[in-house]
Amino acid sequence: MSDRLPRQEIINTALAFNRTGLSVGRSGNLSVRNSQGFLITPSGLPYPEMTPESLIQMDLDGRVLAGDLEPSSEWHFHRAIYLARSEAEAIVHVHSPYATGLACNRSDIPAFHYMVAVAGGDSIRCAEYATFGTEELSRNAVEALEDRRACLLANHGQVALGTTLQAAFDLAVEVENLSRQYWISRLFGDPVVLDSDEMKTILGKFKSYGKTRQRKE
Ligand code: 13P
Ligand code: ZN
Repeated sequence: MSDRLPRQEIINTALAFNRTGLSVGRSGNLSVRNSQGFLITPSGLPYPEMTPESLIQMDLDGRVLAGDLEPSSEWHFHRAIYLARSEAEAIVHVHSPYATGLACNRSDIPAFHYMVAVAGGDSIRCAEYATFGTEELSRNAVEALEDRRACLLANHGQVALGTTLQAAFDLAVEVENLSRQYWISRLFGDPVVLDSDEMKTILGKFKSYGKTRQRKE
């Protein structure tokens, strides 16, 4: 649990939404699990105006425990994901342009590229549409995230979870990158989709991928 993650690091990640173009203006939000429930960004406050004190502490029953501002309107799905997914330590939600563009077509991202496996399976699903900030959207997001660490939200954006805030942020960046590549590939026709046997192989390789450096250190 991230009780020791400095609040300033959460704000820095929120600021990176704007800097990296993952979300413009005030859209998007993020949260980090801790021993009391989760810390979440406030609703409607531009990221440059956020300070460590702006974060809101909520419990897993959806109660505000501390904080003067309103919690993100999407606290429902943050809470629902923490309840459904014990491995989730942080959640990032953004309206990144390419992922959102695909989500407006209510289109899943198929295994057009092997990196789709970073989200945990052979596709990145698009959750069914529901109004922002509703329990219905929470249910739809949790369903689309089954066996996955990221999903699109129809006519809205994307959600990524991680075992750390950095991992959730990096995954959101990768989902945006894949969405852009998928869009490009479709400009040339219908991309060839990798079959489920090949994606099983990739998912197996991903279990050890990137761990070489750790082993040597
Ligand atoms: P909040 O400012 O309430 O977090 O809302 C932003 C958003 O992305 C809603 O889906
Ligand atoms: Zn949103």
